[in-house]
Amino acid sequence: MFLEPSFRNQRSGWIEVVCGSMFSGKTEELIRRIKRAKFANQKIQIFKPEKDIRYHIEKVVSHDENSIESIPIRTSREIYQHISDVNVVGIDEAQFLDNNLPEVCQKLAIRGIRVIVAGLDMDYKGRPFGPMPDLLAVAEYITKVHAICPHCGNLATHSYRLTDEEETVVLGEKDKYEPRCRMCFEMGNILDLKIQT
Ligand code: ZN
Repeated sequence: MFLEPSFRNQRSGWIEVVCGSMFSGKTEELIRRIKRAKFANQKIQIFKPEKDIRYHIEKVVSHDENSIESIPIRTSREIYQHISDVNVVGIDEAQFLDNNLPEVCQKLAIRGIRVIVAGLDMDYKGRPFGPMPDLLAVAEYITKVHAICPHCGNLATHSYRLTDEEETVVLGEKDKYEPRCRMCFEMGNILDLKIQT
């Protein structure tokens, strides 16, 4: 489990990325870290992309309905307008934000802010998703969380889309996606052998 680094004489903040497939517990992990920062009396601000409005526009909500207040943003640079007097910034569903996000996170870190970013590392085709690969490259700490593949019980790394929609972004939950291990994902997508549940 990730434990907060504590540096004496730390001269800047840092970037943490929590990534993985759908249903892997990314948001739960983000919320866990934010709650611990609150216990440590840190001043916190959470952001999430405006397009992720599945549950509530001003809350970060995990699948188990844990929730924390957040500010919806359309572009990653909007974060700059809300960070005076903040020690910790949390960003959920970061894969939906634009490619300026890695630069924004680095500027926050230089200002002394601890930045915790959660997001899908891959889209439904197994491709690196949005700004996530660049964020992973510049982060100090990376935690990859895994779901369980319902077909074989192995660790699931991929988000398999159960519908025929072909846009990269199709919002949905268990009605549209399931976590799969690499092999069950390949069998579904590449060989077009739908696995029967
Ligand atoms: Zn599997």
